[in-house]
Amino acid sequence: MKEFKRYLLTAALPYANGPLHIGHIAGCYLPGDIYARYLRAKKMDIKFVCGTDEHGVPITIRAMKENVSPQEVVDKFHAIIKDGFQQMGISFDIFSRTSNEIHHKTAQDFFLNLYEKGLFEERETEQFFDEEKQMFLADRYIIGTCPICGNTNAYGDQCERCGSSLSPEQLINPRSVLSNAVPVKKTTKHWYFPLQDYENFLRQWILEDHKDWKNNVYGQCKSWLDKGLQPRAMTRDSNWGVKVPLPDAEGKVLYVWFDAPIGYISATKELIDNWKDYWCDEDTKLVHFIGKDNIVFHCIIFPSMLKAHGNFVLPENVPANEFLNIEGQKVSTSRNWAVWIDEYLKDFPGQQDVLRYVLCANAPETKDNDFTWKDFQDRNNNELVAIFGNFVNRTFVLMHKLCHGKVPPVHNTLLDEADRKIIEEIKLTKNKIEELLEQFKFRDALFEVIDLARKGNKYMQDKQPWIVAKQTNDEGNLTTEAQRSIDNCIHICLQLCANLAIFINPFLPFTAQKMIRMMKVVDKMLDWENGGKTKLLSVGYSLRAPELLFRKIEDSEVKAQVAKLNNGLEESKKQIAGEAQPHAASKPQEVQSDSQSPDTKDGKSEIGFDDFAKIDLKVGTILNAQKVEKADKLLQLEIDLGYEKRTILSGIAKHFSPEEIIGKQVVVVANLAPRKMRGIESNGMILMAEDADGKLHFIKPENVIDNGSAVS
Ligand SMILES: [Zn+2]
Repeated sequence: MKEFKRYLLTAALPYANGPLHIGHIAGCYLPGDIYARYLRAKKMDIKFVCGTDEHGVPITIRAMKENVSPQEVVDKFHAIIKDGFQQMGISFDIFSRTSNEIHHKTAQDFFLNLYEKGLFEERETEQFFDEEKQMFLADRYIIGTCPICGNTNAYGDQCERCGSSLSPEQLINPRSVLSNAVPVKKTTKHWYFPLQDYENFLRQWILEDHKDWKNNVYGQCKSWLDKGLQPRAMTRDSNWGVKVPLPDAEGKVLYVWFDAPIGYISATKELIDNWKDYWCDEDTKLVHFIGKDNIVFHCIIFPSMLKAHGNFVLPENVPANEFLNIEGQKVSTSRNWAVWIDEYLKDFPGQQDVLRYVLCANAPETKDNDFTWKDFQDRNNNELVAIFGNFVNRTFVLMHKLCHGKVPPVHNTLLDEADRKIIEEIKLTKNKIEELLEQFKFRDALFEVIDLARKGNKYMQDKQPWIVAKQTNDEGNLTTEAQRSIDNCIHICLQLCANLAIFINPFLPFTAQKMIRMMKVVDKMLDWENGGKTKLLSVGYSLRAPELLFRKIEDSEVKAQVAKLNNGLEESKKQIAGEAQPHAASKPQEVQSDSQSPDTKDGKSEIGFDDFAKIDLKVGTILNAQKVEKADKLLQLEIDLGYEKRTILSGIAKHFSPEEIIGKQVVVVANLAPRKMRGIESNGMILMAEDADGKLHFIKPENVIDNGSAVS
């Protein structure tokens, strides 16, 4: 295997459009951090870089909806994301951002390098344009009726109901998610990178030279290459992003997937002056930690760009993880089916390592995996508490009880088979962990650490120093032989604890810190070269009282978390029907143009009571209902509000026939500004709830009450 002089690790740039959830941590940040910490402990020359990706359409849309500038959106989420990483102990050497000047310059220079080589092909194409918002629309921002299944909210690239992949042209009645306007075709010019010209290079470099890559990564690359590569537009029409550095490129920016990976280079530049050592020297091992949705960008597109540029090293490995599901369902930020890092840290303060442990032990390294709160509890209680924590705690308690709180001497002549065996195990474990980490098998490496603690428990159980402590002579004093046996056992267990601290450090750094405090040693003891040694704690050295490393997690805590997850889901489903707005319009997070890193937590921003009090909610009865011509979603309702009768248009025609709802009581937003649809003025809105299957239900009083009753 090639020896490298230095390491450059990158972790996918999270998208500055929402906070972090556990899927992000499990996907690429925790594996990258474990590897970085391990290399640092080995005294390797290593840099671990990351930052927020702050460009792209979803950010501009969010800004538009919240009536703030895109810069305000990214400033907010950069700070939140950075804080989340810090709290979780993700040890980047730099956490930069792509809105920084240095990045814009770096990305533009990169683009110009390829441009001056004549690599780009300029193409004019027709694209959908929203005239109301004056914006070109990415496929995800166009919705309409699916020609295959009739779903009225199919996206321009895919129908989520029947799974068909679509193009915006295929949609019946296409409309803009942003304004609901009918999009028009408009000509636009873009710069295309000839990806197909790099196919031979990629085939050799990946399929022949990198058979060592993880199966899931290698397989996805092969399938992309087998499908054949196409030219890809590297620019977009937008005002937010890195401006295309050409004179005839007004209103054009670099495609986010062109500029985002260059963010790794910019971040390294920002971090150190000698950044070229890390990017331009063949002695560097470049490793990209990513999730599986980014494989094509990091294994196909970015390497082709690097190859075209010519000055940079290529990644040596791209150990992408698959996805982490939660309680059997895909993470969905728009449905609020996620475990948010900030909320976890509030609910489990000081327990970063428990989450790190569970996410590593259950990491989706080879296939999608499932996070469940029950498994979280089980792993904490049965592994961290009962095995690791228990061994360390017992060792320290017995040392204080039987050895005066000091590291007892070792009596070499009395060492027996069991003693020698456990000492041997410590050395073997170090080698196994190294081997596994070098192959990015983080789960297996972690299990080796736990297994060593398990062996420590077994060793102590067999030795039973607390029983030996009862072997007294006629005067009631402990026999010399007994004391020596106890000394040997406790001495070995303490050295084993020191080794556990070294081995667990890359995985659970907070726990390792607690352990070195208990042992009153300095950070340097955690150097990897000390692993496997059994003279780490000096004889006669007095150690602190044991500190609880982990605590039991109760059933009630797990129940509360599951309830929280389900409540979040329910909250997010309270959709209000009655508007001709497509559902997708209230879910900006799901309409990203590219599968980026984190998207946003759903939910509306907090409002004061005064804001709520402005809404006039009244109980009414549906007197009459009829279909609206040329509008397959709308029903025209006549509502009796007691004091007046109202005409309200409601988008429920797909769910209810007019006959079945006449006579029902409903809750009406009575002071909503009038709105004309299909030539009819709608004066209010009916409240509806949507269940998991997308079925609508009326919100109504439990018993029939007077029309016009206020709801508050
Ligand atoms: Zn469909």
